[in-house]
Amino acid sequence: MILISGMEAQICEMCVEKAQEIIDQEIHRQGGTGTGEASASKSSKYSSNIRLVPPRETKAFLDEYIIGQDDAKKILAVAVYNHYKRLQQLGKANDSDVEIEKSNVLFIGQTGTGKTLLAKTIAKLLNVPFAIVDATVFTEAGYVGEDVESILARLLQVCDYDVQAAERGIVYIDEIDKIARKQDNPSITRDVSGEGVQQAMLKMLEGAEVLVPPQGGRKHPEQKLIKVNTQNILFICGGAFDGIDKIIARRVNTQVIGYTKQQDQQEIDRDNLLQYVNHQDVKHFGIIPELVGRMPVVVHLDPLDLSALRRILTEPRNALIRQYQKLFALEGLDLQFTPDAIDLIAEKALEYKLGARGLRSLCEAILTDAMFELPLGKKDSKVLVVDRAYVAEKLERSRVARLRAA
Ligand code: ADP
Repeated sequence: MILISGMEAQICEMCVEKAQEIIDQEIHRQGGTGTGEASASKSSKYSSNIRLVPPRETKAFLDEYIIGQDDAKKILAVAVYNHYKRLQQLGKANDSDVEIEKSNVLFIGQTGTGKTLLAKTIAKLLNVPFAIVDATVFTEAGYVGEDVESILARLLQVCDYDVQAAERGIVYIDEIDKIARKQDNPSITRDVSGEGVQQAMLKMLEGAEVLVPPQGGRKHPEQKLIKVNTQNILFICGGAFDGIDKIIARRVNTQVIGYTKQQDQQEIDRDNLLQYVNHQDVKHFGIIPELVGRMPVVVHLDPLDLSALRRILTEPRNALIRQYQKLFALEGLDLQFTPDAIDLIAEKALEYKLGARGLRSLCEAILTDAMFELPLGKKDSKVLVVDRAYVAEKLERSRVARLRAA
């Protein structure tokens, strides 16, 4: 134990920690009530004047970072525009008796197709606090795991406990499909990680005053709670919803039976059934109807094909290839990729079924040897051309090749 001596007494390290916690919480509390210097200086980071960005402009911005997913971009751009229009409207008291309801968004798409990237990019454009949380860590209150309130703790942490800013923020809840009610689990036993969590989440998505433990979790039972109103927080939920295609197929098939025209049946693109997803399917998947109802906007993300993966490697503003080129350029090396090398990387990513997420691990595997040789010696070549054979050789020797079995 460490003892710190004062004039007449000593204080131990545990008490120092405790005292620091009390000081932190007091500062947060002051920030939360909008009094004191702390909140004044914090609010400057996230201006209270919301900049309304027209959907077309939003889409153009998203296009710079995200390849494809046009439907998702459009719908998200409109949802966010409406959300912030609604916020502006709220500021003008008694302006109208028509109340515009909030539109939380649900993304459905395979892993690595850009769900998180879309949410992250839009938050960048809007300059509002943005937090990403993973639904899998939550359990019903009273069980081991995190309470759903910690979603808001994360948002508060992002904006330095500026409650006003947090109340206009965006939260991306990933893997929402993992808290679906298990179909083969009748409610005889309690579904700790499923329905109970959905019920708790419902309250938050509806727009309510929620008491949030500032540090999240339950490890600090003595901490003071911060009141956060979630009415104007935009929740974007996302998940892969593995198996929902079967539910969609069943619905689409039964609907088609009623038609006499053969044509209708042919128009269905069976390779990408996700594009037909609706609320009913999400309900069948195991999300409770009330929660489905709180996510009025359902958006699908397309699976990434070869050409999309190729483009992701080279086109976005911070495309992977550009990032590596910059990394090498800093060492004076000109890194070049031949088009057929890019093809092979995209082909492998498609094979491993990791969406665009696989691209980075592939690039790392291909370039690690070259990066290991840095910095360049005087006699080293200043150009590295990565061609198809180079990619094939490096991948063959690397551990990434084992992904194929997965
Ligand atoms: P998920 O859909 O599982 O949330 P992410 O958005 O986290 O996937 O994507 C993982 C990574 O793959 C991102 O960091 C991004 O670099 C890349 N990526 C995925 N989809 C796209 C896309 N449509 N355009 C550009 N990059 C993408």
